[in-house]
Amino acid sequence: MNSRERKENKIALLGGTFDPVHNGHLALAGAAYRQLGVSEVVFIPTQLRYYKAGRLSTSAYDRVAMLALATAPYDHMKISDMELLCPPEENYTYITLEKLKAQYPDTELIFVIGGDSLANLSKWREAEKLFRLATFAAAVRDEVDRETAMELIRKYEAEYPGSKILLLTMEPEDVSSTMIREKAAAGESLEGLVPAEVETYMKKHQLYMER
Ligand code: ATP
Repeated sequence: MNSRERKENKIALLGGTFDPVHNGHLALAGAAYRQLGVSEVVFIPTQLRYYKAGRLSTSAYDRVAMLALATAPYDHMKISDMELLCPPEENYTYITLEKLKAQYPDTELIFVIGGDSLANLSKWREAEKLFRLATFAAAVRDEVDRETAMELIRKYEAEYPGSKILLLTMEPEDVSSTMIREKAAAGESLEGLVPAEVETYMKKHQLYMER
């Protein structure tokens, strides 16, 4: 995409726990930047919730530090601490979108999600508001994925009139934060799964040593 086609009043948002950030997140952010014509992609790490408990939890500081290392090479990738600093009861995507909309009323907000998350969207808190506040963009890997996604999109459009969901095409990256935590605990190499700087940080700070 030509840089002149990029819109200052259009930004992509990528929410997640990023515990830790990995190459799948970076590929998703890269696809969003290339295909959506946004001026930037903002990572919004969320507070860790109870369902992630049951294991040693990673501090917000460490998760942000790893995000900073991973995104450092890309000028268009930013990090927002707004969900980390808000009271826990405000840590919902629809509230984050309401805050951003109030702050940037003329900016189109595009919330980017992995294809797997598309099926769960209607289960998110205040789904109706979500669809009013933001455009969604979901990554698909191939034609089969695209067909499944299109069916879901038609369902959402019927259920939430006015909702806008776009599709991004992305080469699949077979990696998840769960996989990274398991490999780190087993002492396996993370080469090709997270940026080298992130792996070094994890080792230095002894993160994810226990399952
Ligand atoms: P966990 O394994 O702890 O559940 P995760 O790897 O799914 O974590 P999250 O921080 O929960 O990472 O995800 C943030 C966003 O990134 C979600 O929209 C998710 O669908 C997307 N995502 C995660 N992994 C990938 C991947 N390999 N390719 C594309 N998108 C991904």
